Amino acid sequence: MRLARLRHPDHDFPLYAQVHDDRVVTLVDQSTVIGRLQSGDRSRAVGQTLALEDVEFLAPHQPGAIYAVGRNYPSHIAELGNETPRSPLIFMKPPTSVVGPNGPVVRPAIVEQLDYEVELAVVLGRMPDGTIGPAGFAVANDLTARDLQAGDAHWTRAKGADTFCPFGPWVTTAEDVPDPGALRLRSWVNGELRQDGSTADMIFGIDTLIEHLAATISLQPGDLLLTGTPSGVGHATERPDGAGRGAHLKPGDVIRLEIEGLGAIEHAVVAAADPAAADDPAEDPADG
Ligand code: ZN
Repeated sequence: MRLARLRHPDHDFPLYAQVHDDRVVTLVDQSTVIGRLQSGDRSRAVGQTLALEDVEFLAPHQPGAIYAVGRNYPSHIAELGNETPRSPLIFMKPPTSVVGPNGPVVRPAIVEQLDYEVELAVVLGRMPDGTIGPAGFAVANDLTARDLQAGDAHWTRAKGADTFCPFGPWVTTAEDVPDPGALRLRSWVNGELRQDGSTADMIFGIDTLIEHLAATISLQPGDLLLTGTPSGVGHATERPDGAGRGAHLKPGDVIRLEIEGLGAIEHAVVAAADPAAADDPAEDPADG
């Protein structure tokens, strides 16, 4: 089952729906994506049918916590010249980093080296046996400011900026993803293929990562777990001008990220609004 939160022009408020190939059907039993992940309820939606082309997908839910793992694919470790970790390299992104699958992602004014990372997002929920486990899956972009990552001992600023965690376009529940450990994942920048890997290459698999976290943390339904990225990030890609590696994202770029069976998300990068320009009345002809 594919569960989504979305907007439709006929409604002033976000709707929850089950997604089919060319249409969505709204959930009218007051249920939400996170509620369904909590309860395990998978009954079919029976509300209004809306054409897929008329809806705008939003972030499926607001996670309470976003866990992520760095250096979990050998190809990505190699391209950046890092060491293979002996245990999962866990970090977090704050809930404020969430944005819908269509973004936009805002490049902060202090960031020059913005990068993308296509990742399988595990959505935690109640399993049939009552434990918390991988109840669903989605596509995420683990946006990263490489310059901040290089300068800071911890990655909170580099990975945690506002809009640095687009995910969606919906949550595909686990019973419809027979083998999450064998999914092709790809990313494109302005139509050019950059990443093309398989979740089969993860060093630490989903169950290992969840067990590692659950040893000390009470995981909650709706929490996200970003499972790492394969090679092909911008930081390791040759620049178009031939000036070496470092094809970072710039305002105007459009990134598409796709995972087999889970759909695709696509978003633009925009520049942060310049607060100096907004605050200065001299800049505004209407005040002159
Ligand atoms: Zn990552």
